[in-house]
Amino acid sequence: MTFKDLGIIEPILKALKAEGYTNPTPIQEQSIPILLRGTDLLGCAQTGTGKTAAFSIPIIQQLVLDREADKGQRKIRTLVVTPTRELAIQIGENFTSYSRFTGIKNTVIFGGIKQGRQTDALKKGVDVLIATPGRLLDLMNQGFISLNDVKYAVLDEADQMLDMGFIHDIKKIIAKLPSNRQSLFFSATMPPAIAELSKKILGDFERVTIKPQQATAEKVEQGIYFVSKKNKSQLLIHLLEKDPTDSVLVFSRTKHGANKIVKQLAKADIKADAIHGNKSQNARQKALGEFKDGDLKVLIATDIAARGIDVEELSLVINYDLPNVPETYVHRIGRTGRASASGVALSFCDVEERPYLKDIQKLINQQVPVIKDHPFEDDASEAVPLEEKRQPQNRQKQRTGQSKYRGGRNSYRNRNRSRNNRSQKE
Ligand code: AMP
Repeated sequence: MTFKDLGIIEPILKALKAEGYTNPTPIQEQSIPILLRGTDLLGCAQTGTGKTAAFSIPIIQQLVLDREADKGQRKIRTLVVTPTRELAIQIGENFTSYSRFTGIKNTVIFGGIKQGRQTDALKKGVDVLIATPGRLLDLMNQGFISLNDVKYAVLDEADQMLDMGFIHDIKKIIAKLPSNRQSLFFSATMPPAIAELSKKILGDFERVTIKPQQATAEKVEQGIYFVSKKNKSQLLIHLLEKDPTDSVLVFSRTKHGANKIVKQLAKADIKADAIHGNKSQNARQKALGEFKDGDLKVLIATDIAARGIDVEELSLVINYDLPNVPETYVHRIGRTGRASASGVALSFCDVEERPYLKDIQKLINQQVPVIKDHPFEDDASEAVPLEEKRQPQNRQKQRTGQSKYRGGRNSYRNRNRSRNNRSQKE
């Protein structure tokens, strides 16, 4: 399948070629025909799947064709609402790239900076407006923006909007949209509040669901530590002290948990920061900037806050908690090993998390090697055998995996063992 097969017009094909896109990704292959037919779309997909191009290409195409019929003044005909300034900028850059041979213009607005430049751009006229909710409402209230001509409305990362407390702003924005429009709604997860919101926006819609690439899991060296809940922070401190130079992304299932980890690390003199939905955009931006620059070695993140993170040299991901949605595990560990292709993902698993581990192993079709002999080993680990232990073909995989740790770059197993030996002698 090619973009041409999907009916994409020549000026966009030219831009895609210049971007080096040879074939559409699965979400693009599925969504573009639906959107070109004018049907509303509910997309369950995360960043990294090619989601932005999946919606921006057909929107640009329709804007070009509409414009040929209506040669009037430039008006905001497309609105994209997205939760963070980083995502807004990224989406704006994509629109600019794909529309560069079409004459379609876009602008990006977000909070935290003065509005002057943004309102100047709006006054000159744009076809596509990409906005974060707060600044959008603010400029609407000041009379700089009218949504009366919007024909294409995109709500991006809806679950993150909810997490960041934007739900009321979103409802206000939706209320101002004309009813005769095509709507696109994207969310990686569909909790009840999000399903409810999607009903408010979408008319008759088609649904496209894209799971994160499973292949990623195979590229990353993985290991699991059986550890009781109360010992997790000690194990984390132990691992970080052993390997102080790496950039480490630690995943916590909850915002409260992320804050707690930062405090516990601080007690051990390990500098860390957390990013999650309860932190201000500025605080998150600052932590992320320091992490990317290498000034902050340890970043604790919740799954939703980690979405926009694209750090080239991330050598270690630690799952402090195992996610209860197995796809999330694949997404988390896919954060490492991108540039260096030698990432390591280590997970802590307490007794209550054993069922999550089973689900994860089923999804990735792989036994995650157990790292034993660490000072905080949960004695109960042998008492609850993993289902996979009964499968001889997997046992082989487990052994192979463990041997990687013995000789591997990070040699966690070796370090743990020597530490353990030391503590036994002491
Ligand atoms: P997104 O999920 O929109 O954040 O896109 C993830 C990355 O994939 C971005 O860097 C895009 O530029 C890139 N991308 C999107 N579509 C394609 C494609 N068809 N071929 C190659 N790369 C793509």
